[in-house]
Amino acid sequence: MYRENAWKKYDAEELAKLNAFAEKYKDYISTAKTERECVDESVKLAEAAGFRNLDDCIRSGEALKAGERVYRNWMGKDFMLFIVGEKGLEAGMNILGAHIDSPRIDVKQNPVYEEADMAYLDTHYYGGIKKYQWVSIPLAIHGVVVKKDGTKVQINIGEKDDDPVFYISDLLIHLAQEQMGKTAAKVIEGEELNLLVGSIPLADEEKEPVKANLLKILSEEYGLEEQDFVSAELEIVPAGKARDLGFDRSMIMGYGHDDRVCAYPSMAAVLDYEGTPEYTLCAVLTDKEEIGSVGATGMQSRYFENTVAELMALTGTMTELALRRAMQNSRMLSSDVSAGFDPAFAGVFEKKNAAILGNGVCFNKFTGRGGKSGSNDANAEFVGQVRAIMDEAGVSFQTAELGKVDVGGGGTIAYICANYGMNVIDAGVPVLSMHAPCEVISKADLWEEYKCYCAFLKGAKAL
Ligand code: MN
Ligand code: MN
Repeated sequence: MYRENAWKKYDAEELAKLNAFAEKYKDYISTAKTERECVDESVKLAEAAGFRNLDDCIRSGEALKAGERVYRNWMGKDFMLFIVGEKGLEAGMNILGAHIDSPRIDVKQNPVYEEADMAYLDTHYYGGIKKYQWVSIPLAIHGVVVKKDGTKVQINIGEKDDDPVFYISDLLIHLAQEQMGKTAAKVIEGEELNLLVGSIPLADEEKEPVKANLLKILSEEYGLEEQDFVSAELEIVPAGKARDLGFDRSMIMGYGHDDRVCAYPSMAAVLDYEGTPEYTLCAVLTDKEEIGSVGATGMQSRYFENTVAELMALTGTMTELALRRAMQNSRMLSSDVSAGFDPAFAGVFEKKNAAILGNGVCFNKFTGRGGKSGSNDANAEFVGQVRAIMDEAGVSFQTAELGKVDVGGGGTIAYICANYGMNVIDAGVPVLSMHAPCEVISKADLWEEYKCYCAFLKGAKAL
């Protein structure tokens, strides 16, 4: 099967575009480290590109016509973009989907305690992580605290040069004889992920003086009291910006490539689209993929279908049957990262069907576990159309499975959208060290992915 290293084909002009796009992406993931921050940044970019808030249109009831551009912010954690097409929504949409939540460590609802003259926040990790990777590295706290009166306090500590950072300790090697004999799953256990946040006692305080001092600081600097943690969503993420990787600067090392490396270009492809499309175009950036797409902001909820219904109402085409047809007749690239082939761990891959860094955007006809269990398994007819679009646009692409048969597996949002009967295929970018605090991607794959999305928006059609 023919595939090639995409770097070989670039001239100076395209390299300049590729690098400019990579810089914008690095800024985005360095700023947006939580699903809420991704939505906030995306709203800014959408408004700058002339997209209007769909909720304003719903309130005013104004009719939307072909060529109009709207976005929707759902609960501050999901983000959708639409460009209304010439054909009615019943003809289906060209949809780009990706998720904006990433594996991390969340703060518990009753987290503050003191032990051995140090103050800690207790945590519960989010998504699939190797817990031992999250100790002894600089960490930041991002999130919101909602007070009883509904006011929301934004928290972002650990990113500026003069900010403090936070830390989860590991056991010193000198006393680790027993720990070193444990399996990796047990080296650091969930209840050992305790975030160190202070060590100065409050003078004249007898009982838990270090905790008392921490609470005093939280009260003075953020207006928070201990009870406010009950209604907080605080996410502990690696501190610091995404960086170029390698002498040739060909790769990017950073937190949260899974799945912002698909979310950002999906959004950019819709924002950059010029003119009025034939079919309605859409990007949907969703939350909660890493914990099963559950909850009111996960892809399994009806927020996306409901938003399409609102759009149909404003274009004067809403009936129950028309909505069902709009979903069923759509075509979607469900984009999520692929396991990049890693020579250090070659044994878990089957190289012919593995994603190679720099070989372009990666299509996964199916993901799932042993026996394709739980996978979407896109229709060959749709894969054929997607191939043709990619070749026509000169996009470098490859196909892959998630590792060798029966070695492991994973899921995406593809099967959920496919529940409507629409054609969906998994696409994405090869990543090294997926779900680690720092993941690695190739800038060439990021660029080919963006070109893939632009070509799909233009070229995908009813089958
Ligand atoms: Mn993931
Ligand atoms: Mn993912």
